[in-house]
Amino acid sequence: MSMNFVDQLYAVFEVHGERNAFCIEGIFYTYKELLAKTKSIAASLNEKAPGERKIGILATNCLETYAGLLACLMTGRTYIPIHPNHPPERTRQIVEQSQLQTILCNKYDRQNAVVRLIVTENLDGSKIELSNSKYNSAADAYILFTSGSTGIPKGVPITYGNLDSFITAFGKLGYQVTCEDRFLQMFDLTFDLSVMSYLVPLCIGACVYTLPDEGMKFTNVYNILEEYNVTFALMVPSILASLKQYFHEIDLPALRYSLFCGEALYTETTIGWMKCAPNAIVENVYGPTEATIFCMTYPVTRDGLIEDYNGIISIGKSMAGMESQIADSDGHLLEGEVKGELCLAGDQLTMGYLNSDRNKTAFFEHNGTRYYRTGDIAFRTSNGNFMYAGRVDHQVKIQGYRIELSEIEFHLRQITNDSNLVALAIPNHAGQLEIQAVFEGQYIDVSGTLSELETKIPSYMMPTQVHFVKTFPLNTNGKTDRNELTKILNSTK
Ligand code: AMP
Repeated sequence: MSMNFVDQLYAVFEVHGERNAFCIEGIFYTYKELLAKTKSIAASLNEKAPGERKIGILATNCLETYAGLLACLMTGRTYIPIHPNHPPERTRQIVEQSQLQTILCNKYDRQNAVVRLIVTENLDGSKIELSNSKYNSAADAYILFTSGSTGIPKGVPITYGNLDSFITAFGKLGYQVTCEDRFLQMFDLTFDLSVMSYLVPLCIGACVYTLPDEGMKFTNVYNILEEYNVTFALMVPSILASLKQYFHEIDLPALRYSLFCGEALYTETTIGWMKCAPNAIVENVYGPTEATIFCMTYPVTRDGLIEDYNGIISIGKSMAGMESQIADSDGHLLEGEVKGELCLAGDQLTMGYLNSDRNKTAFFEHNGTRYYRTGDIAFRTSNGNFMYAGRVDHQVKIQGYRIELSEIEFHLRQITNDSNLVALAIPNHAGQLEIQAVFEGQYIDVSGTLSELETKIPSYMMPTQVHFVKTFPLNTNGKTDRNELTKILNSTK
């Protein structure tokens, strides 16, 4: 019988104690040190939060945070990452929805002291021996919260079984990775690409290089790739958009695997990047949080034969244990090269959102198989690769972050008591999307509104520009015509 991923973690700690597990802010920590911290956090959880399954983790960039995740995963608990810089009101909603009673944090954090805090820095020496006797594939391993169109973040629970299926399917992708590899971890722990970035290396005894909190993300990414000769990097494509102007100076011969996920990957930029990473296998991987990290992959070849659509690289085929289909709006599966909604089924699929009406519409059954509607428009080519072709709704990705424009609109409406407004995502001169708020009517001072909005949503969701348009253009259904409005804004630039 093959080992589950938690068994693999236990085995790595046995064998690789002296190897480095993490490099955080330039400091290396061995597996032995990581295990010692993990055991003392587990002891503290047993003592202070006995019987509690779900544990919040204030996700700062330090060893204690990762030891906290492991203390949960290695004892069958569920971890819920809390972003240290998100507004307290959002954290409170997450705490309430998931009925959290305890949050692990590195240092005492007054802002997040809405429930019991366990401070993990300098925990006393008490430790417990850990054993994987309670592994339960149906239990939740983590719950992540994504932008919800109704103004309340949607909780996505991912089970140990889902995560184990991902690790198994990842293992079948044919990547030749060992404990000698060096992995980049560039993601907030509230974003599930972080889970691949720390868990895959920890399951094989390799070292994880995290990003410093301070500074520009893309320069930090580049510095770590270069300084530490990183060999495996999963990144969001927007990093490439920022690095593009330096491509002629970049040379990363040590990089063996360069994966991109989270948003559309453009052919032209990727070809430029492949010259910067001459020895890397480059792959475009795809998947929503609801299907555990990623579940489709497309190897980008260097022979000039890249399959793309509108300049966007194919998202390829399903990983082992997963199935991808195209469906129409009634949930009928479509054959041939027709466009429709990309729907996913298989072992990595969440059982459904935490307390959400969206479960009724986001999932459907067909011939006994449960599918998730991704909201992505796609089609299948004759050789079975899928092409990404946009969204059916108003969800956008900025720097890889998933944003429902209607969530921004919801809060703006609540604050202003005005319903004549929209949030749009419009490309700037560098081709990167920016959130813009548009109000119908004459100019008014909205600085107070924006300050209040900041207390409701994370900073990456904040509008960077505000416009006033006398009357909104309407489409034939009498709704605000967003495309036309975007054109009007572009023409006034
Ligand atoms: P998240 O749940 O934050 O991982 O976001 C999932 C969404 O990101 C998908 O439904 C897509 O809209 C988008 N996405 C993820 N990977 C890709 C990709 N490789 N190409 C295009 N869009 C992607």
